[in-house]
Amino acid sequence: MKKIFMSDIDGVLANFDDCFSEYAKRKIPNLPAPDLSQYDFKKRYPSIEAEIEQVWQDFIKDDHFSEIKPYPGAQKVSYFEPVIITARPESSRAATASWLSKHGFYYKDLILEYDKKKYADPQMLRAYFEDRPDYLQQFANAGVPTFKRVHPYNAGITGKNIIPFTSWNLIPVKYILTRFPE
Ligand SMILES: [Mg+2]
Repeated sequence: MKKIFMSDIDGVLANFDDCFSEYAKRKIPNLPAPDLSQYDFKKRYPSIEAEIEQVWQDFIKDDHFSEIKPYPGAQKVSYFEPVIITARPESSRAATASWLSKHGFYYKDLILEYDKKKYADPQMLRAYFEDRPDYLQQFANAGVPTFKRVHPYNAGITGKNIIPFTSWNLIPVKYILTRFPE
């Protein structure tokens, strides 16, 4: 079986944080400044954990995923013909698929799965693109070459198999296709 590339969406292809922050500001007047060194929203806004959880539930329920903007150049991921994997809930499948198509992403398949670790297999994956600290660690520990989209909240995740990148404009497609063969 041929090996494949895999990529996350939020924080990698899509600027989820800006969209969610804007939404939270509309919902919560006097929203405190977030602690961006934290991945988890509830830890980003520790003084208003319960309100932020409610904002997140409303964000999902009203399907605001369609408002998220792609990062500049993120469509470059299409050159890797990736399987897209996201921890978004299954209820957001239609919105997610239409977002990918509307913004010009080409991909083999779309998987909505919270427990991504089951795909952390170097026999199956050529490389993986992710931003969330625990997933990064799981894939890298399993031996998968793991591209980390750099954010303040994943600064501590370094080491073997972790390849940081700050922008899709800096991703060397041809080199990666050769370096991580099928
Ligand atoms: Mg993500």
